[in-house]
Amino acid sequence: MSKVKTTFFCQKCGTPHPKWQGQCNGCKEWNTLVEEVVEKKEKKGWVESKSIKGKGTRPIKIQEIDTDKEPRVSTNDSELDRVMGGGLVPGSITLLGGEPGIGKSTLLLQISLQIDGKVLYVSG
Ligand SMILES: [Zn+2]
Repeated sequence: MSKVKTTFFCQKCGTPHPKWQGQCNGCKEWNTLVEEVVEKKEKKGWVESKSIKGKGTRPIKIQEIDTDKEPRVSTNDSELDRVMGGGLVPGSITLLGGEPGIGKSTLLLQISLQIDGKVLYVSG
């Protein structure tokens, strides 16, 4: 819902004023302000934002996400690629959990060596 918004404009110089006043702030003339309706534009739907790369992005519904066409980065380990649905999803975070000593770090360091590109390995 948009409210009717009015602004007082000087009829001589056009300076807008939020409230009526006797003298214009712009040209210092007296009794030149006239109230006018200003339509405030209502934002509808999603507002497109800009990512760091300058490409337009917007939130979408989960149902609209096409998981079949999601690009994948191969880990160069066919079994891991299969388990992860075809490989790593660019820009995603993968959490690997398991008992201490089960080989999480060994597996991930091995895969880090096999991936073409930079790898950020975070352990906590
Ligand atoms: Zn004025």
